[in-house]
This record gives sequence, C-alpha cells and structure tokens, in this order.
Amino acid sequence: MNYQATPEFAQELDRQDPLSKYRNQFHIPKDQEGNSWLYFCGNSLGLQPKKTQEYIQQELTDWANLGVEGHFEAKNPWMPYHEFLTETMAKLVGAKPIEVVTMNTLTTNLHLLMVSFYQPTDKKYKIVIESDAFPSDKYAVESQLSFHGYDPKDGLILWTPREGEELLRMEDLEGILEEQGDEIAMLLIGGVNYYTGQYLDIKKIAELGDAKNCMVGIDLAHGAGNIKPNLHESGVDFAAWCTYKYLNSGPGSLAGLFIHEKHAHNKNLKKFSGWWSHNKTTRFNMRQELDVIPGAEGYQLSNPPILSMAAIKASLDLFDEVGMDALREKSEKLTGYFEYLINAMGSDRIKIITPSNPKERGCQLSVQVLNADKSLHNKLTEAHVITDWREPDVIRCAPVPLYNSFEDVFKMTEILKTLL
Ligand SMILES: *Cc1c(COP(=O)(O)O)cnc(C)c1O
Repeated sequence: MNYQATPEFAQELDRQDPLSKYRNQFHIPKDQEGNSWLYFCGNSLGLQPKKTQEYIQQELTDWANLGVEGHFEAKNPWMPYHEFLTETMAKLVGAKPIEVVTMNTLTTNLHLLMVSFYQPTDKKYKIVIESDAFPSDKYAVESQLSFHGYDPKDGLILWTPREGEELLRMEDLEGILEEQGDEIAMLLIGGVNYYTGQYLDIKKIAELGDAKNCMVGIDLAHGAGNIKPNLHESGVDFAAWCTYKYLNSGPGSLAGLFIHEKHAHNKNLKKFSGWWSHNKTTRFNMRQELDVIPGAEGYQLSNPPILSMAAIKASLDLFDEVGMDALREKSEKLTGYFEYLINAMGSDRIKIITPSNPKERGCQLSVQVLNADKSLHNKLTEAHVITDWREPDVIRCAPVPLYNSFEDVFKMTEILKTLL
C-alpha cells in the first residue's frame, strides 16, 4: 500500500472504506466543543453501540410487563437467551456452537476451565505462561498451583523474550517443552499479548503442547473481535475471553468460554456444576440426578444476567452484519496506515514493539517512547487522545476497524508529533 501522510489522503481512505458507515453506529465520546475524542482504547473498553440501549430497554420492558413469565414470553425469552449469542460468538472465534458459551467473567471462566484442564500429578504439575501475561491470568494460575499444594515459585514457568527483545519466539517455547515437558501439565497463553500486541501462532502452540501431553488454554481477551483465531481448527483444549474489549458489550460484561469438541462428551472430565449445567429439557423437574449438557453449555452454573447479555447481543448483531473477514481487511489497512504515520514522523525516540507483520498482530500497536514518562500520556489525554499507558514508556493504541477512521489515526499522530 502506498500511503501518504496528509489529511487529504486519510480522508480519501475513509471515503473508500466500505465499513466507514459503522462509526456512526457507535457513541463516540466528545469534548465540550462537540469534537469527537480520538479513542484508541477499544482494547480496554470498547465503545457503546447506539443500539445497545434499545436492546437493554427491550428486556427491561418485558420484565416490567411480564415478570417471571418473561423467561418464556419475552420477545427474546430469557430461558434460552444465551443461545441467541452462541452462533455469532462461535463464528467470531472459529468454533462450533457446541464448543462455545457466554457466561461469567473472564477470570472466573479460566478458573472453571482449569478445574477440568489443570489436573496436576506429582510428576506433571507445572504451568507455562508468558512472562508478560496479563496480571489476572498470572494470579489465577498461581492460585491454582497453590490450591493444588504446589509452590508457584517452582511450578510456574515463564516464557520470556530474549535479552534485549520484546517479542516471544516460538523456538523458546519449544525449548521449554523439550527440557521440562514431562513436568508441564498445562500451558495458558494470551493469543494476542495485551502488552506487545503480538498475535501468536495458536495452532503451533497447541501442537507443541499436545506433543508433550500438556493441556493448552488460550486467553483471547485481546483476540476476540480483533483477529480470527480459528479455535476449533487449532486444536487447543480450551479458551476464554471477555466481551467488553473489542466486543463492545460494556464494563464488566460477560465472557466467552470455549472447550474443544474433542472434550465435549467426556464424562470423566472433572468439573464444577450448577443447575444451569443440567439438561435443559428436564432442568425444572428439580428432583433429578445431575445430567450435564455436553460441551461448553455444561460449564454454566447459574441463570445468567439478561441485561448484560442484551448488550452483548447488540454488539454481536453488528459483528454478524459486518463479518470478521471484512473487519480484518480494514484492520490491516488501518493499523498499517497508523504504523506508516508513526514511522513517517522520523523520530528516533519512537519504536513500535508490536510485530510489523500483519499476520502476527491485531489492530493494536504498542509504541515505546524513549525518555518519556506518564506526563506524555496525560498530555495526550488532555488533548482527548485516549490511549493506554504502560510503565515505563509504552503507549498502547488500538485503532478499532468498527469505529475508528483513517482520519483518527492521522490526527492522533499529528498530536503525538507536536507533543514530542
Ligand atoms: C482484560 C483481561 C483480563 C480481565 O479479566 P476479567 O476477569 O474480565 O476482569 C484478564 N486477562 C487478560 C489477558 C485480559 O486482557
């Protein structure tokens, strides 16, 4: 692509963009003069689709008018409400419907999945994560190790970038597995690393883990709605992701869970259960032995929060309309343009940590600014450029193809240039 660093060129890219109309389907925060913020934090909290209010209002109205009858009589009956999300959610992550359910929150789902997939023995008990794993994932696996009676200092193996490097190398994971594979029970890896934006080869990780009889889990918090992870085809055992980042479902909204079809009918898999794990046709007989639903749905414990699911449905309906293929196509162009503009600044203080190969990243670029401190981030925020700061010197920016424009990234880099 022959990019140019001019406002006219950015505007022309927006005119040619078949997805540009979707920006208008979102609430973009504005300053007091009515100018839209330059919002690059969809990797942290996605913006609100304008339709979300209507979707939630529908459920409030049905609750007001129908009370408990809403479980069956609501326009979107609450009893099977989670099923309305499953097909789109499965498509987004490249899974079969039996492999996916929407429930709980991300870290909760990771724990429930580890009940099944982290079954340590005296010989094989260690867990591998990335050294720059999201803190919640690290705390979760450390607490699982402790819960099972192992010392996290001994049981936790960090897959670490080499000295002087920021990105992970697959050969190094291979090395860890060659050396310690017999002691490793599970890998839990961020499919797209939250810090560097590196999109790892999930299929390769699954193969490496499988070759050493390790269970493999992928955290897709920064992947779902951003990249196309092909979970089923990759062969990973399990995965989980939140929906409030790229899936725009609102703060603290429910999460996704995936268990591979190969485990769907395994009755020996240990798991925790509740009444929502039980066969849907006999659930309300209430006096039966537990009859667990095969696949991901069997991981549900409780009847779910419909208001949160309504917000997810509002967003997923948009994803369904646009499709991940079109989104990825725009995303590569948009992030490519962003990368071009940053490099065109010609500043020797700036280094992009994220891989430059579009196949090894989603939309996020992590930009390291030498000799910068958080005051740079604060100045950006004052200028209504919303990014995410990570100590000591990295700005994480995610141009989101559903609502960010080429003009957004142009304006953002102009402001960054003046601040530097
Ligand atoms: C955002 C994020 C979380 C947050 O977990 P919650 O349980 O939803 O609060 C966990 N892990 C990763 C990798 C994340 O990016």
